[in-house]
Amino acid sequence: MEGLAELHTHLGGSVSSDILWTLAHEQGIALPVKDYWDFDRLVTVSDPRGVPDLDSLDQIYHWTELIQSSPIAVETSVHAAIGGAYRSQGITTLEQRFNPMKRNRGGERDLDHIILAAIRGLDRASLEYPQVRAGLILMMDRTFTQRQNEIIVEKAVGCAARGIGGIDIAGPRPGHARYDYRSVQPMVEDARAAGLGVTIHVGEEGGDIGRAEIGEVLEVLRPDRLGHGILAAGDAELMRELREAEVVLEICPTSNLLTKALPDEEAVRWVFRMFVENGVRFTIATDGPEMMRTHLRDELELLLRLGALSREELDEANARGHEASFVRGQFRAARV
Ligand SMILES: [Zn+2]
Repeated sequence: MEGLAELHTHLGGSVSSDILWTLAHEQGIALPVKDYWDFDRLVTVSDPRGVPDLDSLDQIYHWTELIQSSPIAVETSVHAAIGGAYRSQGITTLEQRFNPMKRNRGGERDLDHIILAAIRGLDRASLEYPQVRAGLILMMDRTFTQRQNEIIVEKAVGCAARGIGGIDIAGPRPGHARYDYRSVQPMVEDARAAGLGVTIHVGEEGGDIGRAEIGEVLEVLRPDRLGHGILAAGDAELMRELREAEVVLEICPTSNLLTKALPDEEAVRWVFRMFVENGVRFTIATDGPEMMRTHLRDELELLLRLGALSREELDEANARGHEASFVRGQFRAARV
């Protein structure tokens, strides 16, 4: 049986609470809670009703990123997330994304050490699970300066042959104003020229601003994939552009429900039917299985139960995930 593919997981949301708890203690990180179960609630979306907004999600990421802010913690996290995805979900194509500059304690830790530690975690997982094609995506941030984002892409280009498959940008819009994606266009062009894949977090929320951003990103950055992009559903022009440019959306249903990006299950169903009917390509992901308290098989079951996708359509989305992955080659361990 062909395994599952998951292309949109954040390292900060992919490591189980027990491993994060031990990492926090090993490093002597001051935590606001002393009980493991309180900690579990601190580092996951523990309320089934979700969080009020994306800013609240960033508060949760604050803790996981702080705990992952050392070479050993990054290595352990990458290694644990890949092995866990294969053992519990049968995931054989997995991409994990993270922002290395949110894991170096404001420059106190050397960025190269953080990135090479992530690659070491990837290499160790490749030896233990040669069935898995796994890769990393380095993320820029919308709150960062141009220079900070340039450095992240320089690092990604430098490690393009060693397991970094692509780049992304995420984070809140500064001042909630529309983000100017032209500011990262030169970096995106450099990444593409180096053979890296380009995916961009856009069209997750923000109504008309979010929709306008999808159009700008498609025109200015020419991405291979979009993180979310759900606001394009129902917009004939955007759906046509996505279809014609063969852009693949990475859709995370439970995450969208928990952050209120989509109001209810009916909205989830509608988004998927819109994309199917308009020939927009997509894959299914969790955004971060541990933080969202869902796993890829739960997402597939949810979509089936809602009548959002048929079994054949789910199979097609999974095949699309394997195809659209930025990880090249059959077995990474055999290639190096
Ligand atoms: Zn995401």
